Amino acid sequence: MTLPVTGYAAQSATSPLAPFAFERRDLRPDDVEIDILYCGVCHSDLHTARGDWGEFSIYPVVPGHEIIGRVRNVGTGVTKYKDGDLVGVGCMVDSCRECEPCKHDLEQYCENGNTGTYCSHDRHDGSITYGGYSTAIVVSEDFVLRVPENLDTKAVAPLLCAGITTYSPLRHWNVGKGSKVAVVGLGGLGHMAIKLAVAMGAEVTLFSRSPNKADDAHALGANHVVISTDEVQIAEVANQFDVIIDTVPYDHDLKPYLPTLALDGTLVLVGVVGELSETISTWPLLAGRRSIAASMIGGIKETQEMLDFCGEHNVLPDVEMIDMQNINEAYERMLKSDVKYRFVIDMASLKK
Ligand code: NAP
Ligand code: ZN
Ligand code: ZN
Repeated sequence: MTLPVTGYAAQSATSPLAPFAFERRDLRPDDVEIDILYCGVCHSDLHTARGDWGEFSIYPVVPGHEIIGRVRNVGTGVTKYKDGDLVGVGCMVDSCRECEPCKHDLEQYCENGNTGTYCSHDRHDGSITYGGYSTAIVVSEDFVLRVPENLDTKAVAPLLCAGITTYSPLRHWNVGKGSKVAVVGLGGLGHMAIKLAVAMGAEVTLFSRSPNKADDAHALGANHVVISTDEVQIAEVANQFDVIIDTVPYDHDLKPYLPTLALDGTLVLVGVVGELSETISTWPLLAGRRSIAASMIGGIKETQEMLDFCGEHNVLPDVEMIDMQNINEAYERMLKSDVKYRFVIDMASLKK
């Protein structure tokens, strides 16, 4: 029997999110059915609901890819999970599982395209995937994560996207004790980048447009704050950073940041998806063998490693809980950078 669920969807790029009833598929042998407790609100949800990424949005869009819940039913072949387990689902629910990236636990880079938690076509029946702004979800056990029970369940959801998207590049570019890391933008991803880099032993600087966030940045663990619009402050940190994690969601000029990279340093773009309009001179790159790179979420194995790391080091997002009914207002606040530092939807509100 398919499972009737309620959720919130955007019916078009210009319509606000509103209640939407739909069905989850019958359990396949490897499926896990999850009662959703909480779902984080990522800026990608907003981009997708509002059509910022063009064809990527398939309406109705049910966003949500920072999902925490408890297993309430499993398919006949499931071995990893049982009823009652605390689990998570992030940005992907499937991939081809055969290509080189998939074979190397890098499903996010699947050569045949990973199946997104929302706005993707299911690989078996072609149906459109619907995300976590809903009461339940059905996902193959291989794309389900185990959530440490010692962490505050309400706060853990944003690790499934904001956490892994910043953890993966920090690991890939070998951040550890003694590394100097800078983070651009203090939002959902930015605040996790600070917490994770600090937990890995790095010295961390925040680049922000918002002077009023300085105290918060220090409280989150940042050692220094540089106001990114202040040329004097930027010049003072020339040649410093091994890695810069840039979380800014919109087109912006990278030029001010490149000279702040140390020799062999890398600026990793995780925020903007699409074109940057400013051209870049190779001069600051070749003058320090510097790189510009980009990184997308993380694989399932690495996401589990990140959750376990956060469980061990007690790294948790700072969250503001909201009811599902307040999602449109939350999006408006996110656009004004008025979030400390991630909204999480309490799905019990959907049952009200
Ligand atoms: P967010 O919570 O809204 O935070 C973004 C921060 O960037 C803001 O708090 C602000 O920080 C700064 N900012 C915002 N607009 C800006 C502008 N026009 N110019 C300069 N700075 C600006 O967003 P998020 O949820 O962290 O997501 C950030 C981006 O990452 C989104 O575009 C999202 O789609 C993308 N994303 C990518 C991946 C991936 O796999 N690569 C995964 C998840 C999300 P300050 O006030 O401190 O300047
Ligand atoms: Zn996300
Ligand atoms: Zn693949």
